[in-house]
Parts: sequence; structure tokens; C-alpha cells
Amino acid sequence: MEPLILSIDQGTTSSRAMVFGLDGRPRSLSQREHRQYYPAPGAVEHDAEEIWRAVLETARQAIAAANGEIAAIGITNQRETCVLWDRDSGTPLHPAIVWQDRRTADHCARLKATGVEAFVTARTGLLLDPYFSATKIAWLLDNVSGAREAAARGRVLFGTIDTFLLWRLSGGRVHATDATNASRTLLYNIHSGDWDADLLELFRIPPSILPEVRDSAADYGVTDKALFGQRLAIRGIAGDQQAATIGQACFAPGMVKSTYGTGSFLMLNTGAEAVASKNRLLTTVAYQLAGRRTYALEGSIFNAGSTVQWLRDGLKVIAHASETEALAAGLSDNRGVYLVPAFTGLGAPHWDPAARGLIAGLTRDAGPAELARASLESVGYQTRDLLQAMAADLAESGRGADTVLRADGGMIANQWLMQFLADMAGVPVDAPEVAETTALGAAYLAGLGAGLYDGLEDIAKRWRRARRFMPAMSAEMRERLYDGWRRALQRTLM
Ligand code: ADP
Repeated sequence: MEPLILSIDQGTTSSRAMVFGLDGRPRSLSQREHRQYYPAPGAVEHDAEEIWRAVLETARQAIAAANGEIAAIGITNQRETCVLWDRDSGTPLHPAIVWQDRRTADHCARLKATGVEAFVTARTGLLLDPYFSATKIAWLLDNVSGAREAAARGRVLFGTIDTFLLWRLSGGRVHATDATNASRTLLYNIHSGDWDADLLELFRIPPSILPEVRDSAADYGVTDKALFGQRLAIRGIAGDQQAATIGQACFAPGMVKSTYGTGSFLMLNTGAEAVASKNRLLTTVAYQLAGRRTYALEGSIFNAGSTVQWLRDGLKVIAHASETEALAAGLSDNRGVYLVPAFTGLGAPHWDPAARGLIAGLTRDAGPAELARASLESVGYQTRDLLQAMAADLAESGRGADTVLRADGGMIANQWLMQFLADMAGVPVDAPEVAETTALGAAYLAGLGAGLYDGLEDIAKRWRRARRFMPAMSAEMRERLYDGWRRALQRTLM
């Protein structure tokens, strides 16, 4: 029987299990959403038990539907989200605090005021922002009754979602994570590859709660026999954006992938060099294989597909996300209307948590078409903002970025958007045949970890382009539009 790989893709809104063949083509898929909890303004939580049940159920369904032998399991996950649990019972001490959660903004601001951010960035490649795990872990230790004392007695374990799932899958035997997930905690030194004692002290995190950090393709043990009726080998782990980078086979320095889902995430492979950003991008681990880390520059756009959701659910000017395509295409130009989707502040390269959204250039005859077009265009402009920041950082280190953008995510179904992206970025935009690049990347890692692939070249040759969009807009038009965006953007920054 052909060996198959199960990929567990635990995302912010849903959990997906997909089975892939070694050829990188999907054999089965099962998906389940989980609830979002908003206990206070700016706070976002998930029920880790509900996530675990969804993962188990979808994994069982995907395995049953694939009808073959599962040779290895890979895990990819929403990053930064934190869980603390009891070492003995495995029970979470509190709902998971989600990456979007801003409850530790004050803690971050207090630390920033002490002038420590440059030091933190030098060690972690990140910024002092509530987005990352460290202040969320500290919040849990300080606000869950008895948590610090229990941690001091060695009773408490911390994990990002990959680690929590691994603990449950292994029947409480393996407490580990991979270098990509570790690199999002603010506690991990991306240069030495270790938990950093100075950072642990700064954030007051006891080392005893931390998982062991392994390669992204590694032996993570086997599943408890009771779960799937047999022991399955867990051989790969990576955070979702890193997994997408692998699924897009961006293995050479200079290659860029861009994922367009709820938010949008660009990742530029910088090889063995951790390029320090002068333009407020993040330096992060793209993957770690055989003990060697490959780094990336990352830019996150908080609102991309969510802007389209807002048109649908908030304004109710469309019934389906896909309607934006015909609406945008029906206009000969944007008629001067710009939408800056700073609903939850702005991410890279601005990092302004206080910025709020804006629609500029409205005239009396503007309507749903102008809003739809401005929403899609905002994705293109934000992409160009990030690409320019990346190019500037690379120029500092004397190198260039690739001349192609590999795009994926739910929004790439929108052909008008893809063409606009190519026009605004000024480079060809490629869509891959397998759009589920995140799940695919975790499957590839598991395959590598299980020795089913010879190496990254063996994986790279499986990447296939479905379609290429070439830049076609005149330079004059491109600059005029982008200039309008820059002016609208300036008005949202605080
Ligand atoms: P996530 O993984 O973040 O949940 P997906 O990759 O599944 O997101 O993409 C879903 C997002 O893409 C939604 O925000 C939706 O509004 C948007 N989207 C889906 N199809 C289209 C389309 N044809 N045009 C514009 N946006 C779309």
C-alpha cells in the first residue's frame, strides 16, 4: 500500500485534518470550526479541550476516508496562542489565550518604557507586542489562582497549540515543540537556538514549564494506541506560516510566499542568515532541519480576507466573498476610493495598535462596487508596503529578493485580486496547484522526518504552478494608485 501522511492543521477558526500522498496531492480532508470567546474588549480565548476534540475527530475522519497506511503525522498550528496545563491530569488551567488577544498591551508598554525592546529584538527577532506568547504566559501565571505555586512545584506545563496537541496525542509522554513555534514566544534566542535565561527572567517565566525544542522534522514520538487503534509516528511540526513556506517550497534564499486568508502573511527566506530588520519586519525561524536553522523575514497584515467578511457580515453589501470579484472588475478604476482596514490596528511595517480603519474619497455615487474594489485593492497595497520593507532590509545586507511571489490562501480564488497583486507588486504572482499549502507543508515535514523524502530538493520538485499572473498596469497608474493609498494610510496612523 502507498504510504500516506496525515497533516493536522489547527487554525484560529477551525481545525483541519488532511491526508496526503507522497506526491503532495490530497487524498482526504475533514474540517471543524471551534468557538471564539471574547471575554473582555481586546481579549480572545479558545477552549483547548474543544480544539482537542475537533482535532481528534477530524483526524479520525480523514484517516478513515483516505483508506491507506498512515506512515507519519505532521502538525501545524495557529502560532503564539498559549495553553498552561496540569502535568498530571493534562487539564488546561485556563482557556487558551489567542494570538490576537491584546490584554497584555500594558505589560508590553511598561517593559518598552524601560528601554528593553532593542535587547529583546536582538535575541528574538520580534517586537515587544502582546501578539507574542511571553506576556500571555506571564498573565496566566499571575491571574490563574495558584498557578505560580503549582509551577514552582513542577506541576504546570506550557505549550503553544502544537505542544498541547502533541502532549495529548502522545498520551502525556512528549512535551516538545519545534524551533519555528519556539521562535514566536519572545523567550527563544533565535541565534543560539535555546530558551534564553535573560528573557525568562525578564518575563518571569519558570524554565520548568517549557517544552524541549526540536527540529521541524524530528522524532516526536508516537500516538497513544487508544486514539487511532494503532501507534502512529509524529515526525513534523511547524507554525502555520512556516508550514505554508515549506508547502510553497520556498527553500532558496530570496524566495517569497504570501498567504491571503483572514489576515495575510509574507515570508521571505533569508537562508542561514538572520537578517535584522530596519523596517519593523520580524526576523523568525523558517524551519530547522538537522540542527540547522533557516531564517526568514516576516510581515503580517492583520486584515485581508476579514475586510471582505466585514463587507458581507458587517455592512451586508455582499452575500458571498466571491461577489467582490465581479464588483471590482465592473469598475474601470477605483474612482479615488481607498479603504484602510486598520480594524484591529496596523501590523507590519507600521505596528500601530491604536490605528483604526478609514474609507477615503467617497462621493455621492460611491456604492458597494467601490467598497468591494477598495477592499481588494487594500490587500495589494499592503502587500507592496511589505515587499518594499523586505527589499530595503535585503538591500542593507547587500542582496535582493526573488522576482516572483508565490501566493496561497482562500483569497487567491479571486482572479481580479491576483491580477491587482501582480500589478501593484510589480512582479509575477504564482498560484500553486495545491492551494492547501499550510497542511501540505506539515505533511512534507513529517515525510522528511520519517525518511520518506530525500531532502528539500525532493520536495521542491513536487511544487507545481496552476497559474501565473503577470504585471500589466502602466507604471504611471501604479504609482498614482499607490500614492493615493499612502495618503489614506497616513490619516489612520496615530
Ligand atoms: P483562514 O485560513 O484565515 O481561515 P482562508 O485561507 O480559508 O482563511 O480564506 C478565507 C478568507 O478569504 C475569508 O476571509 C474570505 O472572506 C476570503 N475569501 C474567500 N474567497 C474569496 C474571494 N473569492 N474573494 C475575496 N475574498 C475571498
